[in-house]
Amino acid sequence: MKQLEESLAELKGQGMLRTLREIESAQGPRVRIAGQDYLLLCSNNYLGIADHPDLIEAACKATRDFGVGSGASRLISGSMSVHHRLEERIADFKGTEAALVYNSGYAANNGIIQGLLCSEDTVFSDSLNHASIIDGCRLSGARVRIYPHNDLVALEQLLAEESQTRRGRWLIITDGVFSMDGDVAPLPGLVALKQKYDAWLMVDDAHGGGVLGATGRGTAEHFGCLDHVDLQMGTFGKAFGSFGAYVAARRTLIEVLINRSRSFIFSTSLPPGVLAASIAAIDLVSGEEGARRRSQLEANRQLFVKLLKVEGFDLCGSTSQIVPVMIGDPEPTMGAAAKLFEQGIFLSGIRPPTVAPGTCRLRATLMATHTLTQVRHAAQTLIAVVNEEFACA
Ligand SMILES: *Cc1c(COP(=O)(O)O)cnc(C)c1O
Repeated sequence: MKQLEESLAELKGQGMLRTLREIESAQGPRVRIAGQDYLLLCSNNYLGIADHPDLIEAACKATRDFGVGSGASRLISGSMSVHHRLEERIADFKGTEAALVYNSGYAANNGIIQGLLCSEDTVFSDSLNHASIIDGCRLSGARVRIYPHNDLVALEQLLAEESQTRRGRWLIITDGVFSMDGDVAPLPGLVALKQKYDAWLMVDDAHGGGVLGATGRGTAEHFGCLDHVDLQMGTFGKAFGSFGAYVAARRTLIEVLINRSRSFIFSTSLPPGVLAASIAAIDLVSGEEGARRRSQLEANRQLFVKLLKVEGFDLCGSTSQIVPVMIGDPEPTMGAAAKLFEQGIFLSGIRPPTVAPGTCRLRATLMATHTLTQVRHAAQTLIAVVNEEFACA
């Protein structure tokens, strides 16, 4: 115990200790913390529908009709009608033969990669892919080749190199929108490479789903290549305002996952209320209200980025609702986040291991439900705090 306490104290000394902050309200554009109101700039509830009446009503109705718990894993007795309706809705939305729901995005990435690949196989993975992809690659036992972030030339070199001694299946895997940089994967180039080298392409669209594309179908819709992504993975916990995750793919791949994916097989399935809320969320996101919210989000993003760019801030190449402000070391990053909090703005400072050492950043995320006035106030306060932090340093 003493050793553990020392290691916590050491983390604290390095400005690296992580703690939890209790939110006393819904994930709105403003939240209540310790009885005070804060402008929320670090939620992934991008479209602001986590407390939408349609989702709440769907969750309540399904809970009343089917109960709270699903009772078992899907392969035992927990495969309820509402799981099947949601999977049909996802496949329809994504234009694939089938879909499979997972309990979370973390569980999905673990289970999909482990379920499809074995030690004979090779994964080509972007260097900034999410931790759950990294863990899935490790679990699969496949050979892993990491290519520099969004670098198609380097990826092709790796593919050509591996071609000399190819055996097994190949999977190229990328985030659609990168969670800590807010930039977007070059999907058309990845599609060309996966075709040339006969690999599967998997896109983790945790941050692109609901936000990108005219109907919110994500990064692949944005680039017009929905038909060329073999495995479209996404989550319901972010723009869709609900919880859980999915993969949409050809039926054969889905059947393999049902039979082999350990995070799917060995875990109790999601509760009916959550699944019904996800169905309502797809309806909302793909309809007129979704389009309206996407354009509000885009207006907010443009204003925020414009104000920060005038100051010459490094925004890590962000082109999405995730807007990082590069700081560098952990202390000034966390110092700035603390000052912003004092001034009523809640956004997160991001440190290793989430990002590489020396690339600590303030990561702001915009929501469709922020007003332009709130966005302008947030940008101005952020600019003042960061400039002050660097003036002291
Ligand atoms: C959030 C996230 C996940 C995990 O999804 P959860 O449903 O929160 O477990 C996976 N991949 C990426 C890129 C993410 O940002």
